[in-house]
Amino acid sequence: MSVAIDQAGVRRWMDLFAQAMSEHRQELVALDTAIGDGDHGTNMDRGMRKAIEKLHADAPPDPGALLKAVAMTLISTVGGAAGPLYGTLFLHLGAGLTDRDAIDLAAYSAAWRRAVDAVQARGSARAGDKTMVDALLPAVDALERSESLEAGLAAAAEAAREGMLATIPLVARRGRASYLGERSAGHQDPGATSTYYLFESAAEALAS
Ligand code: ADP
Ligand code: MG
Repeated sequence: MSVAIDQAGVRRWMDLFAQAMSEHRQELVALDTAIGDGDHGTNMDRGMRKAIEKLHADAPPDPGALLKAVAMTLISTVGGAAGPLYGTLFLHLGAGLTDRDAIDLAAYSAAWRRAVDAVQARGSARAGDKTMVDALLPAVDALERSESLEAGLAAAAEAAREGMLATIPLVARRGRASYLGERSAGHQDPGATSTYYLFESAAEALAS
């Protein structure tokens, strides 16, 4: 198996993530209906659909520019908390992945770390606040501990899944779910769930 983080790989990744947002739209809507306003699935599906349309019309030549184009679409088409937060994530990820042919594990991990730092700077969520950060942080930690890109992609997806599941008992301290206080416990966070799909898509698209 060869692992490629190049323009074609990142394009495949964004296609798979858009597909996942479409396939899991109802699941994300149901999760967000329980502890928010029910729009997370439609938000993410709409935003990624638009992003893919834009890439079909004009795909930038390097992986970083491609991710930045996705970021700009999400920022301009997705309202609510998730649009700007995913926009920030993709913008910073893209800034770290501009090299066309030499994206190794160290560069990939460093780009992810900067992206997570930026999401935290923007939304002020910490570990345990029951947000997408609870899937992001363990995934990026797992990447940094990995010894190869191939192993890192798989480990990050598994860690994101565990982080997503670990949001279930938490009481939300950020975002709309925090308005529910203790009643937010017992529900999986929608943003952590879409973030898990992002890492799952990366593992599938980049390690093929
Ligand atoms: P909205 O909450 O505006 O309706 P979405 O439903 O699309 O937006 O997204 C909700 C998700 O956004 C939450 O499940 C959570 O993971 C994430 N989120 C909300 N606020 C923050 C924040 N301050 N920091 C990080 N993630 C957040
Ligand atoms: Mg919502």
